[in-house]
Amino acid sequence: MHGYGVTVMDALARPGGMLIGGIPSFRLPRHIIDHDVGVIRSLGVEFIPLVRIGEELSLKEVRSDGVDAVVLATGTWKDLTLDVPGEGVTGYIKCLDFLGALNAGQAVSLSGKVLVVGGGNAAVDAARSALRVGAKQVIVVYRRGREEMPASQEEVESALEEGVELRYLVAPKRVVHEHGKVKGLELMRMELGDIDETGRGRPMPVEGSEFIEAGDYVIPAIGQRSEPFFLKEESISEQGMIRCNENGQVTGCEGVFAAGDAVSGPSTVVEAIASGKAVARQVMNYLDSLGVSFLDADPPAIATLRH
Ligand SMILES: Cc1cc2nc3c(=O)[nH]c(=O)nc-3n(C[C@H](O)[C@H](O)[C@H](O)COP(=O)(O)OP(=O)(O)OC[C@H]3O[C@@H](n4cnc5c(N)ncnc54)[C@H](O)[C@@H]3O)c2cc1C
Repeated sequence: MHGYGVTVMDALARPGGMLIGGIPSFRLPRHIIDHDVGVIRSLGVEFIPLVRIGEELSLKEVRSDGVDAVVLATGTWKDLTLDVPGEGVTGYIKCLDFLGALNAGQAVSLSGKVLVVGGGNAAVDAARSALRVGAKQVIVVYRRGREEMPASQEEVESALEEGVELRYLVAPKRVVHEHGKVKGLELMRMELGDIDETGRGRPMPVEGSEFIEAGDYVIPAIGQRSEPFFLKEESISEQGMIRCNENGQVTGCEGVFAAGDAVSGPSTVVEAIASGKAVARQVMNYLDSLGVSFLDADPPAIATLRH
């Protein structure tokens, strides 16, 4: 709206990020995203799909083509692993692989009993989706209590109404499998200890409380992290997020900014949008400092960049 030319490149086939690649369409109808994307396109933003920075195009190549500034808003698309024995056998399906396949329109079907591990929106989305693609029973296992679940309470209520079962204060100890196929989870009961850095009771294992919950599939949905493999080490924080200075500029990368979950870690749509807006202002300051200007056009008309 300030007259700069903007191109958005994305690894997905359609614009929308996690809102089309992760969040199921029964929760966020796609016509809403399509409408918003249409508005953004009408402002002159160009979308280039199916370009993964670091694979199809290096960051250097993106920068070299008459581009004055780059914003990395690559989100958190790498599922965290349970880090227990038995991961990777048939029937163990990573949450974003499962939701991503459904959202890409692939024929996905489940059957029998599905165990989803986690307590956030992703876990609840995976559980509700599993019911929709054929699972007969879906149990969400979570290491804290209902009060501590990060998922929206409204979504948890909807999941319960649909028949999803919740088991609180249990954590996986291993994936039980036979002949390379999931047979269930060995779970351990937990109790909440002192308040930890998240402001919730720290889950503590109850010794000797192990039990087996049978299941045909395990979907781990315990969080995601960023995967900025296209950046140098100095630009990546210890937590694996993109490291920026107070102006949103990526450490060690002149003219490259970053925003959203890729910087903060998994958050919310509203927070990611706020971060994007804040960084856009920093980019404009940066372009100003370079003397990059734009034709003085009334929004929403878009002008071309000139130096
Ligand atoms: C299952 C699930 C449910 C959620 N439910 C909610 C909810 O109910 N409410 C809420 O507020 N938040 C929810 N969230 C969180 C919310 O989706 C994110 O906080 C938000 O989408 C982050 O926005 P972003 O722009 O930073 O990243 P994203 O939306 O993740 O977008 C990142 C984009 O970068 C692209 N990309 C990644 N790497 C590359 C690369 N190398 N090259 C090119 N493109 C790349 C991806 O394809 C993607 O399109 C949910 C998240 C998940 C996983």
